Amino acid sequence: MTETSSICPVCESGALQPHRYSDTFQHQGKSLVVDDLEGYLCAECGADPVFEDQIRRNHARISDARREADGLLTGEQIRRLREHLGLRQRDASALFGGGANAFSKYERGEVIQSVAMDRLLRLVGRYPALLQELASPPAESLGSVAPKPGEYVGGDPVRLQGPARHGQAQRADGFVVVSLAKWTKDRAA
Ligand SMILES: [Zn+2]
Repeated sequence: MTETSSICPVCESGALQPHRYSDTFQHQGKSLVVDDLEGYLCAECGADPVFEDQIRRNHARISDARREADGLLTGEQIRRLREHLGLRQRDASALFGGGANAFSKYERGEVIQSVAMDRLLRLVGRYPALLQELASPPAESLGSVAPKPGEYVGGDPVRLQGPARHGQAQRADGFVVVSLAKWTKDRAA
């Protein structure tokens, strides 16, 4: 389907003209009006087909409207942030997680990033030095770094080095296994 001289697939005689329209979507129990959606309109029979490229762009606009309603970064904002950090899409996906094609999907609006990912992106966008921390994930350095007694060393369940308290399991490697909730509670006490 080209943008010019398209004949209406419904009446097979009218010429299709590009047109813009608005539509209403349900979002978190509220109505969300999205403007500037793309389609075609047949001047003769009134059919309004939407073609593949337009569907993709419309989907991206709807995703952005949902993200704006939720206070999340839009696809374009994510792209700018990623470029500001000097990362290619696949590098960003490897560093931030979310799957191999995560950033391609976020930026095209195919997938909406989680709130957690959104906050991480804003944080690293503001403090780019944090990229170094992402480049050496704690999970991989666990084996080579000796945790101090009582130190949270990541993973779930939380592993603490030190004597087992009542009800805790002492493992052969000297770590005590507790739940994250319990560990937080103990630390606060
Ligand atoms: Zn028509």
